Amino acid sequence: MPARILDGKRVAEQVTAEVRDAVARRVARGMTAPGLAVVQVGEHAASSIYVRNKRRTTETVGMRSFALDLPATVGERDLLDEIDRLGADPSVNGILVQLPLPPHIAREAVIERIDPAKDVDGFHPYNVGRLALGMPALRPCTPYGCMRLLAETGEALKGKHAVVIGRSTIVGRPMALELLLAHCTVTIAHSATRDLADVVRSGDIVVAAVGKPRFVQGDWIREGAIVIDVGINRNDEGKLVGDVDFDAARERASYITPVPGGVGPMTIATLLANTLHAAELQQREALKAL
Ligand code: NAD
Repeated sequence: MPARILDGKRVAEQVTAEVRDAVARRVARGMTAPGLAVVQVGEHAASSIYVRNKRRTTETVGMRSFALDLPATVGERDLLDEIDRLGADPSVNGILVQLPLPPHIAREAVIERIDPAKDVDGFHPYNVGRLALGMPALRPCTPYGCMRLLAETGEALKGKHAVVIGRSTIVGRPMALELLLAHCTVTIAHSATRDLADVVRSGDIVVAAVGKPRFVQGDWIREGAIVIDVGINRNDEGKLVGDVDFDAARERASYITPVPGGVGPMTIATLLANTLHAAELQQREALKAL
């Protein structure tokens, strides 16, 4: 029987509706709407689409969207000053700097400059460290969104063998930490992994975050495995495809995410949930300081 589809678009709409309701309740209680600042440097074509979507969706849930567009020539110092300014602004609860950045700007310096309490991308070493210690605060959006999709299967994750393909700081690594937190046995495979097909075949859960179209073959998938495809690639015909050979993998998996319409929509929905969570955490800290 072909795998059941994990419909990220539907789940993302559900998460977005939950955030919208929570924001409305906050505002009805006389509190300010949470604010999200999305910073874009330069005009990277794919980034511009993501940034536009993030800003638009922020407004649709009743949050305040702060747009900061800086030229590709902006100096690192000036960008860091802008991040400090947003950090000090009480109406901004979340700060996101869209990656990639131009080569003259050190991405690590930028990520570390964001106040960890406003780091809604969850990339700051403080937040990654908390996730690694099993004490999550703000969690990287894409992996956290994948966990929500795994929850949709209704399957117990505890004890399952999860194979994550990819070890990037934004997807692979935090994904492995999330799965560990869910009591999976976790293997991280990457570009230097030997016998990748066999490693993937041992997975009850396979998360592909490689960035290569249809790289994961159908016969690498164990019968009944859950397949989460994070990849977003354009094939030769300009169509969006994932990292997994969907049609072949679907014949073996129990659940699978499509591309598009799987993990992608979850990332923005999780970003909004993170922004709401950041606003709540900041409010709690402010009350503690009274
Ligand atoms: P990346 O290039 O930073 O990392 C790719 C990883 O794949 C590396 O860790 C590398 O070791 C591994 N890899 C490369 N070749 C390999 C091979 N032959 N065998 C095994 N592993 C190999 O990419 P990324 O930022 O982690 O993104 C991965 C994919 O996910 C991309 O397609 C990206 O567009 C997509 N993505 C989607 C979302 C979303 O919201 N759905 C978010 C972020 C990234």
